Parts: sequence; C-alpha cells; structure tokens
Amino acid sequence: MSPLLSVESALQQVLSSVEDCSRPVIEVDLLKALGCVLARDVVSSIAVPGDDNSAMDGYALRAVDAHEQLPVSQRIPAGSVGAQLKPGTAARIFTGAAIPPGADTVVMQENCELLDGCIVINGSVSAGQNIRLQGQDISSGSIVLCAGRRLRPQDVGLLASVGMAQVSVYKPLKVAILSTGDELVDPSNIGKDKELPAGQIYNSNRYTLAGLLSNLNVEVVDGGIIPDDPDATARALQSAADAADCVICSGGVSVGEEDHVKDQVEKLGKLDLWKLAIKPGKPLAFGRIGETPFFGLPGNPTSVFVTFCLVARPYLQKLQGLAEAAPIKLTARARFNSGRPGGRQEYRRVTVQNGETGLVASDYVNQSSGVLSSVSHSNAFAIIAPGEVVTEGDQVEVILLDHLT
Ligand code: AMP
Ligand code: MG
Repeated sequence: MSPLLSVESALQQVLSSVEDCSRPVIEVDLLKALGCVLARDVVSSIAVPGDDNSAMDGYALRAVDAHEQLPVSQRIPAGSVGAQLKPGTAARIFTGAAIPPGADTVVMQENCELLDGCIVINGSVSAGQNIRLQGQDISSGSIVLCAGRRLRPQDVGLLASVGMAQVSVYKPLKVAILSTGDELVDPSNIGKDKELPAGQIYNSNRYTLAGLLSNLNVEVVDGGIIPDDPDATARALQSAADAADCVICSGGVSVGEEDHVKDQVEKLGKLDLWKLAIKPGKPLAFGRIGETPFFGLPGNPTSVFVTFCLVARPYLQKLQGLAEAAPIKLTARARFNSGRPGGRQEYRRVTVQNGETGLVASDYVNQSSGVLSSVSHSNAFAIIAPGEVVTEGDQVEVILLDHLT
C-alpha cells in the first residue's frame, strides 16, 4: 500500500500549481467591495485627520493663558473653520472641529465654568491636550492598504476615510459545485408533506460547499446532482468546467465501481488521486478538466468540510490573489481522550471555551465522518498528529472554525 500523503504535502502541491494571481482587475464601487481582494496598493492623497482638531466639546485656548479668566471670542462647531485666536481669549469648540490658529490646547467643558461670557478653568492644563493631530491616523502619501488583502468592513471604512469611491479588486472567482450519488435528493425537490424515498438521503454537501464558497466571496455555479453513471458524470464535469474557474465535486472519488469521477476526469484532463493522511477525509483528487482546476472531495459531509477548509480553501484564496494567511493556531487543555494513536492527522471537532486558567477543548460525542452534527455543534478543530495520543489535561493545538471558513 502506498504511504498516505500528509496534509502539508498535499497543500504544498496544490498551492504550487498556482503561479501569481492572474485574475482580471475590475473597479468596483466601494459599497460593493466588501469581501473582494484588493488588486493594488491604495495610497492616500490626504492626511486623516486633515487638521489638528478637538477630541472634546470644550474650549480651545493657549495653555499659557489657562490660569486667567478668558472671554469667549468665537464659536467653532465641527465642519466650520475658526479665525486666528486672540491671545487671552478662548474659542468655544466642539468635537471634531479644527483647532483655530493660535490655540494649542483644548479644555473639556466639564472643567470650565462659564460666567458672563468668560470661562474659568478648574484643574491643570498642559499644551497639546485633547488635540488630535493632523495625520495621526493616515499621513498623506502613505500606503493605506496593501494589495492582496480581503476587504473587511473596517477596511472599506478606512478606504472611505481617504476618499476612495471606487477600488481596484480582482474579479471574483466562479466556482462550480457538483454532488455525485444516486442516493441524493435535494431538499427543495421533495414537497413539504412528502417523505424522503427509501434508500435516499438529502444532499447536504451542496449547501455546506455553497456556504463555504460564499464566505470566500466566490460566485457559486450550481451543477446539481450527478447520477452514478460515467456518461452523465463526464457531461456534468465538462459543462461545469466550461462555466467556472474551478470545479469542486463531492463524492464518487474513491475507486469503487460506483465511483466514476476519477475515470472521467482522467479522460477529460488530468488527475492526481491522493490518499491523504487526514481524519476525517482520506480520498482527495486534484487535477484539471481541460484547463479548469478540479477538486474531488470525499462524499462524507464532515470530510467535505475538513478537506475543503484545509486544502481547497487555501488554493482558492491563492487563486483569488489573496496574500498567504495561515490560520491562527491556539492551544487549549483537552477535556477528552483521543484513544489509540492513528496513522492520520486528526481534525477532531471540539468546542473551545474559556476555562479558569486558559482555553479548554471538549470534543463532540460522535466523531464519525458521516456525522455533520460534529461540525455544527463545534467551534474548532483539535489537531492530533499521526501517532499522537491526547489524554485529558494535555495541551492540544486548536484552530477556530471561524478562522477556516
Ligand atoms: P462516496 O464518496 O460517493 O462513496 O460517498 C461517501 C458517503 O458520503 C456516502 O455515505 C454518501 O451517501 C455520502 N454522501 C455523498 N455525497 C453526499 C452529499 N452530497 N450529501 C450528503 N451525503 C453525501
Ligand atoms: Mg457516491
């Protein structure tokens, strides 16, 4: 039997097949840019904030005048520009308003008493206090965000703060998903009051994969269910490859006589079928249909989730032009025993919580690859290396599912 391929080697092979991102670059309105990958560095043409401005509602003055009773000589709300401050006076000022020339400090209104149009200040005052300096967030000419970053809500806000109305991003990928298996029925095809026919199961992989892909800001092309038949498989694979930048198929990838994906992809292009040292998972195919990259994931719903997150997702991210970002690993104290050492790297579905002295990880009761509840009722994978045994109280490496999806 050929040795199992490690997850790291599979990932390396998959990633090395992507050269630099060759996605077309498009301009999108900023409100449409969320989730897209920035294609060019963004350089700010302005400083943020554009002026020294007040961090408080209060009075702007010269610190050297603070011990005196000061007449209020002007009023500067946010959005307006004050005049040169007369020495020995104070300007009424509001949060965000530009500091008038001549003033060097702001005293918050809670520390000022107003008497007959003059203020008296309680407490000490130092020059520069309560002033937000010009450019303290972003200086003019600096890089605001680098190419290769996926835009999160705060990034889109940051781009707005430097006045970007449009932004250059990589054109989103189209990924086709196909589910193989004569046993599959889509929930939408069974009427409300009808029962699932004997021997059939609902297609869950379609929904899991569509969701995982949407989180990557990918346009999903749904290729539906492929029956376990060689010609139907070839036709579905070819039309998916014609319509998308990548094809992801679940099931039918083993070498049983009802598994047709391998043979058909080999006829239409090229395929490597790996036995991965991964639990759950194991069979994983990677290749091309014509020029379109292809992943054949296992059929079992939990294996689909694990292999997608660990191998297909980093590949798609690289294809999208995303700068490399390995998921963050944390450590948690195991509240479980892993049992006998295995030959595969296990991604045990666990719930990580705050314990009294750090994170703790409790495993889901049924770790079978067919039990999708193990993923739904968990928030992390605990990684157990081949040959390793974890006993309760040991520190284990965990990756939060939020960092993988
Ligand atoms: P296969 O790799 O095709 O032998 O499938 C392995 C197992 O996963 C079988 O028990 C299938 O019924 C199940 N399976 C395959 N595809 C799906 C799917 N789309 N949704 C839910 N279960 C599936
Ligand atoms: Mg099957």
